Amino acid sequence: MTTETLDIKITKNTQSRLAQTDFSQLTFGHTFTDHMLVADYADGEWKNFEILPYGPIALSPAISSLHYGQAFFEGLKAYRHADGNVSVFRPDKNAARFNKSAERLCAPELPVDMFIQSIAALVDVERDWVPAADGYSLYIRPFMFATDPYLGVVPSNTYKFIVLTCPVGPYFTKPLRVKFETKYTRAAEGGFGFAKAAGNYAGSMLPSRKAVEEGFDQMIWTDSKEHQYAEELGAANVMFLIDGKLVTPSTRDTILDGVTRDTVIALAKDWGITVEERRVPITEIVEAARSGKLTDAFGAGTAATIAPIGAINYEGEELTLSDPASREFSNRLLNSLNDIRYGRAADTHSWNYMI
Ligand code: PMP
Repeated sequence: MTTETLDIKITKNTQSRLAQTDFSQLTFGHTFTDHMLVADYADGEWKNFEILPYGPIALSPAISSLHYGQAFFEGLKAYRHADGNVSVFRPDKNAARFNKSAERLCAPELPVDMFIQSIAALVDVERDWVPAADGYSLYIRPFMFATDPYLGVVPSNTYKFIVLTCPVGPYFTKPLRVKFETKYTRAAEGGFGFAKAAGNYAGSMLPSRKAVEEGFDQMIWTDSKEHQYAEELGAANVMFLIDGKLVTPSTRDTILDGVTRDTVIALAKDWGITVEERRVPITEIVEAARSGKLTDAFGAGTAATIAPIGAINYEGEELTLSDPASREFSNRLLNSLNDIRYGRAADTHSWNYMI
């Protein structure tokens, strides 16, 4: 890893939209800050790092990412501390995952220090946009896409790396009613479910829409071969507290290695809770829910944070879980996570990257 300071050209927006933005009315991903960061990959190197006013960019309609989906992204957040300081949560993990996605999609590596410096520079410019209230943050969306203007199905030689930022509030505001998805598949073995590839999200839209039409908020994805094992919860990792143990599907080809998941596991271990990362059969969850041993269940993700599951439906049987307000584990998790992210508790794992 090089640690040279990245040369970033900065052109400020002369007309900030900050004063006209109503932070109490934020829809996730709809409100963008004044600036974005853009960089190009060409001739085997990253160049032209630039922060400029947020707005449209001109692209050829032939760029290969529009046709063949050579595109992937990340999602992380900046938080404002009570003393006014701003930190980004675990950007090194997102940088590493970005490069795993790049490798799987035949795109170039973006060195970790370039990823982090790009984000830090943009968040620094947008510092005033980082909300202060609990549950609020500045969502950071880095992404890379292929820009060769040819229709051949081959890896592109040129790419763009862009970072956008959006002030956001809570993502889910009520406990989720979910079902096990036993028809559609999010990711298959040998595929690229572990990558944050745009195509994974395109393929999830139809099953998600059908689940919503059936009255569910989300689905628990199951394995592609047998539909017998839980994998993820929508666009979050899924976690269960069974008999006092934290049980979650182990990461594999088909599962995104979530930063929140890793953080929850670390906190649970700090608290002396047994953590089991393994395959999790649907039958085990259903039986644990029926017998009352399933005392907590939630999605874990950057956007979702800790999203409690209120009810799980398995082939028509509705399993109602305990009232999320009374759940000791997920409430302790959310409070601890918030305390660390907003700088109210000691950051013993050095998760906060100060801007
Ligand atoms: N799984 C999927 C499919 C996701 O899209 C996300 C959100 N990035 C996650 C899990 C959670 O990952 P993270 O905690 O890093 O946001």
